[in-house]
Amino acid sequence: MLKSNLKVGIDVPWVTSWTEEPVVGVRPCPTVNGQPALVQVQNAGYGKPQYSRNHLGRQRRTVLHMLCPMCGEPTPPDDRWTQVARLTPAGVLRRGGRAAGLTREIEDRRVVLDAGSIAPLHRACVEQSLEHCPHLKIDPNVNVMPFPARWAVLPLLIEASPVIEAGVVVGAIAVITFLQLIGVTETIDRDWRFKKPLTVQAVRG
Ligand SMILES: [Zn+2]
Repeated sequence: MLKSNLKVGIDVPWVTSWTEEPVVGVRPCPTVNGQPALVQVQNAGYGKPQYSRNHLGRQRRTVLHMLCPMCGEPTPPDDRWTQVARLTPAGVLRRGGRAAGLTREIEDRRVVLDAGSIAPLHRACVEQSLEHCPHLKIDPNVNVMPFPARWAVLPLLIEASPVIEAGVVVGAIAVITFLQLIGVTETIDRDWRFKKPLTVQAVRG
């Protein structure tokens, strides 16, 4: 396999998947406390970068450990920025089916920042990606904002193939793919019931 001349975390975002990183199936994954997750080979920098796809394991690590998806380094609390996240009342997110698993502690009128599957970046990495990424350059949704001090992590699930024991189908298991990140702001929107759900466009994986 061919090592690319492109450098991971410099020329290509750290979280981006490469063609030499095939998905190898469902395994208990340490990134999600050993729960069944879709697992992918780790071989960043080999083959070609797949800019429209994130690596499953690295994506989960960025969200769980607040690693910058661009450079892969941790973001300190005072240097976390989102590029295409959207502010929306939690109730609207729930109504649009985009907040399964968000605890009721986060009330419907609470404004949250739906970051989709994209962990916050360093400010310097935001500037760099806006300058170099052809998709972001033309994306009308780009709106650089600081990421809130509180957040929730929600697993995005797919149902995997049936579980068979002794030749009998005993059920299917829900498998974690990516992790969704929801920032929790201090803002309350009392008119949340009159707001429309967002399009799913802001979500990338
Ligand atoms: Zn960074």
